[in-house]
Amino acid sequence: MVPQALDTDILILGAGGAGLFAALHAQRAAPALSVTVAVKGLLGKCGCTRMVQGGYNVALAREDSVERHFMDTIEGGGWLSDQDLAWKLVVLAIERIRELENELGCFFDRNPDGTVHQKAFAGQTFDRTVHKGDLTGIEIMNRLAEQVWSKKINRLEEHRAVELIKAKGQEAVAGVLFIDMRTGGYVLVRAKAVLLATGGGPTMYKYHTPSGDKSCDGLAMALRAGLPLRDMEMVQFHPTGLLAGTHTRMTGTVLEEGLRGAGGHLLGGNGERFMPRYDAKGERATRDIVSRAMFAEMRKGNTTPHGGLYLSMAHLDPRKVRSDFGGMVERCADCGFDLVGGRVEVVPTAHYLMGGVEFAADCSTALPGLFVAGEDAGGVHGANRLGGNGVANSTVFGAVAGDTMASWVLTRELLQPDRTAIDAAIAACESPFSRKPSASLEGLREKLYDLMWQKVGIIRDAAGLAEAQRELAELERELDTLKIQDTTRAFNLTWHDWLNLKSLVAVSRVIAQAAADRRDSRGAHFRSDFPDMGPLDQSTFTRIRFEGKDFFIERKSVNFTRVRPGQTLLRDVA
Ligand SMILES: Cc1cc2nc3c(=O)[nH]c(=O)nc-3n(C[C@H](O)[C@H](O)[C@H](O)COP(=O)(O)OP(=O)(O)OC[C@H]3O[C@@H](n4cnc5c(N)ncnc54)[C@H](O)[C@@H]3O)c2cc1C
Repeated sequence: MVPQALDTDILILGAGGAGLFAALHAQRAAPALSVTVAVKGLLGKCGCTRMVQGGYNVALAREDSVERHFMDTIEGGGWLSDQDLAWKLVVLAIERIRELENELGCFFDRNPDGTVHQKAFAGQTFDRTVHKGDLTGIEIMNRLAEQVWSKKINRLEEHRAVELIKAKGQEAVAGVLFIDMRTGGYVLVRAKAVLLATGGGPTMYKYHTPSGDKSCDGLAMALRAGLPLRDMEMVQFHPTGLLAGTHTRMTGTVLEEGLRGAGGHLLGGNGERFMPRYDAKGERATRDIVSRAMFAEMRKGNTTPHGGLYLSMAHLDPRKVRSDFGGMVERCADCGFDLVGGRVEVVPTAHYLMGGVEFAADCSTALPGLFVAGEDAGGVHGANRLGGNGVANSTVFGAVAGDTMASWVLTRELLQPDRTAIDAAIAACESPFSRKPSASLEGLREKLYDLMWQKVGIIRDAAGLAEAQRELAELERELDTLKIQDTTRAFNLTWHDWLNLKSLVAVSRVIAQAAADRRDSRGAHFRSDFPDMGPLDQSTFTRIRFEGKDFFIERKSVNFTRVRPGQTLLRDVA
């Protein structure tokens, strides 16, 4: 099968905060270059940046500082972050929020004196979360998309990237193979530089928050290309996923962190508050601590009718809850819950992958020509991400990647793609059409959801992780024998579900392997058989990559380039 061929200077995979910032920065830095954004959904309408509710962390207030934001990020991340990446995040977040407001036209909420309003988010020592009500992502994505539409930036919408194609006889990226989802045809885009910005997304868990178009495709492609991934055991669960029964896709969607920040209480099925028994900060403790406490209460059977817990705002000023959290009030009402005066059923829900492709501060990776930014990239957040640091991360490093790629491509030529690799990738995509009838895709998906939630979820142990690894290997085998009956290629959603599951199972195996390797408890990773953090000054992170069909895992020492455990950059505290 010969794919349709296109050429571009810069190819961006994904149209979230990272992808669109990269496109705008690359185009501005070098307007003569051809920049192409390719995306699995519609530009501006898919991915998780649009779903950002709470807001964007940035040290703007006079009483705040980048040092304080940095220390919160490092301590929240269990001292596993790459400190130079975290520093870049907190410093450049200030530039990006100004760009969002003053150049792109975002309106964020303001105080009566005209300063930008910043609200409380859990795990922070200062209220620094900039927001637009509780629907911040829509504001950011609408303005970003308008800018991209108005510029000379090419768009390939409903184009699913399926393989990074290396150059013939050379360890460098030459382009990317896509399926045009509207026709089912294959498209090869050659590029001098490729940005991976497909946004990770732990959608392999029974309860999850990310958008349905995200299935870890970028991470799976990076693994197949031999790139190392770090911190993959670090999966963040958001404590307050809506729990409205199995009949609705609203189950698992997130109720924003600001609700706990504003004083919301978590109650057991018996109607009593339990968080103070687990942590002095109560509901304002970090996401990992709250999620674990909730899971422990659920295991005790102290649950609501749907098997979760309650979130209650009923003790707070109802007018303020209604005005500050209008979007959340409506979302709860849609599912039959009264957020203002009643109780809402909630459950911890898989939200964010801290792990991702290892990268340098200029967004380059180990594969020449391939860059990474946003949730696909690992190392910024270490063992846990602060709420509000996600969209800061994708916009900051998206912009860095755009600037870097614009200068990188000036001295590069398009490379000749490896034809054998293209043929092999197409054959892999086509394989489920030519098999004997077998298991159902839905059954395999449910198996994946359950085993990841039970055995590789909020509380882990050696026995469960070993079982999970065996079951995941078996799931992969079953997927490889599955037949897709409907051979239509155009908008064949079963085919895309199968491709989604292929990526999710590959990345799930990496998560389980890394979780088994880390015999301590840090941030989002908790081992009931190894509950201690271990010595912070000897911290190591996991690095994992595929070699052939096997994993190769190693532990790397954290380089404390700016501050060591026990120290602080804050002058008033030191
Ligand atoms: C419900 C929710 C609420 C959140 N709230 C906050 C918050 O308040 N504050 C905060 O800081 N963070 C928040 N986050 C996290 C934040 O949304 C993410 O960290 C951030 O938006 C990720 O940006 P990104 O550009 O990396 O990925 P995304 O914005 O998710 O974009 C990924 C893009 O890649 C595309 N894509 C995926 N696979 C392929 C493929 N194979 N081929 C082509 N394209 C592909 C997708 O369609 C999408 O366009 C929230 C997340 C969720 C789910």
